[in-house]
Amino acid sequence: MYEKYKNAIVTGAARGIGKGIARKLAEKGINVVISDILIEDAEKTAAELAGLGVKTLAVKTDVSNKEDVEALVRKTVTEFGSLDFLVNNAGITRDNLSVRMSEDDWDKVLSINLKGAFLCSQAAAKEMMKQKFGRIVNIASVSGLLGTLGQGNYAASKAGLIALTKSMARELGRRNITVNAVAPGFIMTEMTETLSEQVKEDYMKQIPLKRAGTPDDIAESVCFLISPAGSYITGTTINVSGGLLI
Ligand code: NAP
Repeated sequence: MYEKYKNAIVTGAARGIGKGIARKLAEKGINVVISDILIEDAEKTAAELAGLGVKTLAVKTDVSNKEDVEALVRKTVTEFGSLDFLVNNAGITRDNLSVRMSEDDWDKVLSINLKGAFLCSQAAAKEMMKQKFGRIVNIASVSGLLGTLGQGNYAASKAGLIALTKSMARELGRRNITVNAVAPGFIMTEMTETLSEQVKEDYMKQIPLKRAGTPDDIAESVCFLISPAGSYITGTTINVSGGLLI
């Protein structure tokens, strides 16, 4: 990791993949803001990770709300001194076949998964541009590459996020800010716990490595992208799915 750059925000970090990413960053000596709409869980996670010897802070944020996002970035810079890394992880599903999907479920998913990442990246980039350094990682999904049955809203949001990654990478490169995405496959978290045994079995059949992924698998790729080893990579999407896309 960098000597000089030590401060990160991870959105949706109270639990699941976001918590796994925040933990891995803290293990590497990075101060982490645990941003989540669930403040009690965010506070628990922040307290737990502070035990690893880094500074942590829990901030209640709805990533789809511009005022919340601006306050999140302001608070990070005030408390930690800078914002060097942003991981846009907050995301939701509201599954249904497209012909049955309500407009509300469409809007909600797009506004958290896509607009949320846009708002956070925009606010973070303004800080990163001043210091001519920044690393942004968007947590997309293989759904955004494949299209998935019953997930038109979710797949569109993640495909949009991959396109946003490429556009912002082009825009911010000259300021030494990289923007990349990680596309997880089937990862065991509360988001996937509720799927039926049949759906889980179907996934397993399609995964050459024959196991579900863990939040740690995703966190390792994020760490690579924000470390000096990943400094010449921008605008790319790493698929971390046990071979699901082969
Ligand atoms: P998760 O366990 O549901 O965690 C997501 C976190 O984001 C939750 O704490 C959630 O709070 C929070 N959140 C929801 N809406 C938010 C908002 N408006 N503002 C801020 N935080 C909000 O999900 P996960 O499985 O860890 O997924 C994390 C990311 O990975 C998501 O972007 C997801 O799309 C992506 N992903 C997951 C998988 C998988 O297999 N699990 C696969 C591909 C991609 P609430 O509990 O209140 O909703």
